[in-house]
Amino acid sequence: VPAQILKGSDVANALRESVIESIQRLTEQGGRMPALATLMVGSNPSSQAYRSSIVRTFKRVGIAHHPIDLPDETTEAELIEALVSLNNDETVTGVLTLMPLPGHLRAETVLEHLSPLKDVDGITPTNAGRLHMGLPSLRPSTPQGGIELLDYFGIPIEGMEITVVGRSNVVGRPLASLLMQRNATVTICHRKTRDLAHHTRSADIVCLAAGSAHLLTPDMIDPGTIVIDFGVNVLESGALVGDADFDRLVDVVGAITPVPGGTGPVTALVLARNTVAAGFACLSGDLDHVDFVRINAATYPG
Ligand code: ADP
Repeated sequence: VPAQILKGSDVANALRESVIESIQRLTEQGGRMPALATLMVGSNPSSQAYRSSIVRTFKRVGIAHHPIDLPDETTEAELIEALVSLNNDETVTGVLTLMPLPGHLRAETVLEHLSPLKDVDGITPTNAGRLHMGLPSLRPSTPQGGIELLDYFGIPIEGMEITVVGRSNVVGRPLASLLMQRNATVTICHRKTRDLAHHTRSADIVCLAAGSAHLLTPDMIDPGTIVIDFGVNVLESGALVGDADFDRLVDVVGAITPVPGGTGPVTALVLARNTVAAGFACLSGDLDHVDFVRINAATYPG
């Protein structure tokens, strides 16, 4: 049986419709038109690439984008000042800080000063805490998109053995939490895991979020395993690849997301939807109703 290639564009199309619908709902309820500010300190190629993909996606759904650029030598006080001014800016419903920051600035500064109501990446302690408690929150786009990709293709989560490779605050850790909330049995692997292959081999689904090209190879999985690849790695040749050795795995897996074209397009639309959700949060002044714009698994075929 040939592997199923799980294309993100299919999911993205379904999501696009729902985002456009939710913008309408937001404005009907008296909310402002959603707008995302992306804050970039200095500049690096991967942040710029991510920002351009945001610009493309947001244009198609009709959400405004405000690029905010601060110089490389921005001080911590100036970064805080920029965040506070975005928190108070009523024309902005969501704020995304492009990472990594220059070496002299700490990511914690952003986490501690960004309003949770505008935190479209779900990185503030308030949103992260609420996510891990199963309360409504603005959820990191990448893991939330992964869940919706599985739902879209009708891949069951409940009762599955799922191994997550990576424990970052934006991908691996929240993904594991979301999968556990859906009643999967979750194993989290990381750099200090003694025998990674042992844990990938015993999994029904392997989720890759390690940022390491060709990390998962065919000898590390059972035939028929489903592989969801969140890795984004740029090779020296300039080629973009995930964490899976896709070309060799494709003959062994049951299903796999390609890179590019798998989880990426879904992430961008979940970010767009989070910007609308943040609009609801700004309107109501709390995070209790951001589930408004979540996609119901039942709306997907399969
Ligand atoms: P991302 O933002 O894509 O999640 P990070 O660089 O923030 O990426 O985190 C990478 C994560 O992947 C870390 O938790 C790290 O422990 C894990 N990781 C990296 N390389 C390996 C590896 N070879 N085996 C297992 N885990 C790994």
